[in-house]
Amino acid sequence: MDERVSSLRQQFKLELQNVQNSKDAEQLKVRYLGKKGPIQDLMQALRSCTEEERPHFGKKINDLKQELSALCEEAIDGFLKAELSAQLAHEKVDISLPGRKTNLGRQHPLNLILSEIIDIFAGMGFSVQYGPDIDSDYYNYEGLNFPPDHPAREMQDTFYITPSMLLRSHTSNTQLRVMEKHKPPIRIIAPGTTYRNEDITPRSHVFFHQVEGLYVDKNVTFADLFSTLEEFLSKLYKQPVQTRFRPSYFPFTEPSVEVDIRCTACKGEGCRLCKHSGWLEVVGAGMVHPQVLRNGGVDPEEYSGFAWGFGIERLAMLRYGIPDIRLFAENDFRFLAQF
Ligand SMILES: [Zn+2]
Repeated sequence: MDERVSSLRQQFKLELQNVQNSKDAEQLKVRYLGKKGPIQDLMQALRSCTEEERPHFGKKINDLKQELSALCEEAIDGFLKAELSAQLAHEKVDISLPGRKTNLGRQHPLNLILSEIIDIFAGMGFSVQYGPDIDSDYYNYEGLNFPPDHPAREMQDTFYITPSMLLRSHTSNTQLRVMEKHKPPIRIIAPGTTYRNEDITPRSHVFFHQVEGLYVDKNVTFADLFSTLEEFLSKLYKQPVQTRFRPSYFPFTEPSVEVDIRCTACKGEGCRLCKHSGWLEVVGAGMVHPQVLRNGGVDPEEYSGFAWGFGIERLAMLRYGIPDIRLFAENDFRFLAQF
């Protein structure tokens, strides 16, 4: 037994000399002191000793166990310390290197122009309301005086989800909701995304953004509509703009107009932007149809109002000279970084 103990000690010390790192030292410890290791074997062998021998050899084996365990811990500790300082030396930060550049976030050009639009109308006493993107046929069409099978529905090629639910084709779906909830005077704008089943081209997209406006009060006239839109457009383009109102048709306004402004690029001389007409079409508007007022619970004998809608993309394209509507949705950094 004495011999087995001392040869095991020798063998361990030889192996310990060959250990190179903390991981090997851990493995050595497990191999010698673990449940299937040689120390355990010696404990088993103790059973075959005589009663007199047992305490003597028992103590020897225990001493060996303590000794090996201490040697292992010492080795593991030493390696861990060396490994840590090697790692620290290796990973030292060179503070003289230039820093990594982080790209700053920017506002999307559509949000940029929308915040200006909201600011201008807020200054004129309008508040902001939001309607749902998915809406019923009633709020998008029928309540706004587009009966089923009305040909005007075909002006806006609509995405239907079910026969009665759709992706709103204009932000006008907010009009009736606001009238149902609030008594006049009503002065709101409703910005949002709108959806139409159109080909994606430089001039049209399946989704774009609009700002709807609604003003309902006593004695609201066409003159109020003209002056409000003229004031807005002058503030947006930061110069007095010349406007032109052409008769038009929308089922939910009567009479209806299209509002043009003198081309901001060529000042009316004629250029590619205005297709050589000298005018840019920017807003559709009109006096709220009496039936729409009634649908919203407003008495058309007592109140009148006007409404308008325009595309944010269109205003942004004119303002910044952007030639292609698809750029707004493509998230190309080279484009977005210019604003
Ligand atoms: Zn022009």
